[in-house]
Amino acid sequence: VVSPPYGAGDAPLRPAEPFEKFSPPLANGERAAEPGPPFPLRLPPKAPVFGGAPVEEQPKNVDPLVLELVNTKVVERGPPVQWSDVAGQVSVKAAIEEELVWPILRPGAYSGASHPLRTLLLFGPRGTGKTLLSRCISTQLGSTLLRLSGTTLLSTWKAEAEKILQTVFFVASCRQPAVVLITEAEALLAARAGEDGGQVSNLKSQLLSYLDNVATSSEQNVVVIGTTARPGSMDEASHRRFGTRLYIPLPDGAARRHILRQALAQQSCCLSERELAALAQRTESFSGAELLRLCQHAGAARRALPGPPASYQDLEKAFCKVRPAASQKELDLFLEWDKMYGTRH
Ligand code: ADP
Repeated sequence: VVSPPYGAGDAPLRPAEPFEKFSPPLANGERAAEPGPPFPLRLPPKAPVFGGAPVEEQPKNVDPLVLELVNTKVVERGPPVQWSDVAGQVSVKAAIEEELVWPILRPGAYSGASHPLRTLLLFGPRGTGKTLLSRCISTQLGSTLLRLSGTTLLSTWKAEAEKILQTVFFVASCRQPAVVLITEAEALLAARAGEDGGQVSNLKSQLLSYLDNVATSSEQNVVVIGTTARPGSMDEASHRRFGTRLYIPLPDGAARRHILRQALAQQSCCLSERELAALAQRTESFSGAELLRLCQHAGAARRALPGPPASYQDLEKAFCKVRPAASQKELDLFLEWDKMYGTRH
């Protein structure tokens, strides 16, 4: 039996008790999520998500160092995110709330659904809030969030990648309700990954079997969210494993205004409503992250000089430094992919 090196304040790892009170792992001083309705109280799972082995046997296979890595680097302890923190994306948020969050929080009201939604793919340009939205979903579910990047898994953690993936799902199962967020999921689910018979192929089949297990085991309170800015590089069999595939587009005018207003306030930059409207119009193809960077540049440039707070002129200058990355061609490809494979809502 392994004695894992828990950090102070971490919940000890063990199979989830059906009636225990769940407290999300937050760092000292962080505000806890608003108490929401409890996660469905169910009998303990007989067959957990990690390969179908009984819960008691699993710790034998878990490397304590990998467990520590997952506990310190993969389990997220960020502040809670509310729906209102995600600007725009109105229909996406409504679809997620109706199809994923409410059925989990109020299972009685949705007992008609044969398989509750447990797997979600969010695709769209970089910086459009896919990670933010995933953190919001986790907050709404009052769940533990485990986040790992497909690319990092294959580069930095290559040697231990399979063990890490296995341990992530083990920890998720122990700490359920849990959301496993895999950013840059296409790195693990690339179309070519199944062909070389190598490590990527093993990881891919490992992940696909976790997706299947999570989706079919209604006893498990584990949700898997994949995000990608390159949905086209996944093969159809892989992306179809996600129960719902939602397009997260660039922010519209109202959302840009919302993001800009908040970002400028952080930079102590006060624009008139007319200037804000003009700025929102000028930033049509900017992602949320790019809008943030634009405001940060303006704020930083102004702070380097004595004088009044950042103004519209500082933002004008920042346009030379921050340009939108997504081309029209790429955006058209996203729309096309959405038409073919996206879930309509
Ligand atoms: P993605 O996962 O799509 O690449 P992120 O969620 O990491 O994008 O977004 C990066 C940052 O940009 C967020 O942390 C947030 O500050 C800002 N951002 C992006 N989209 C939005 C949005 N719709 N509403 C509010 N902030 C946003």
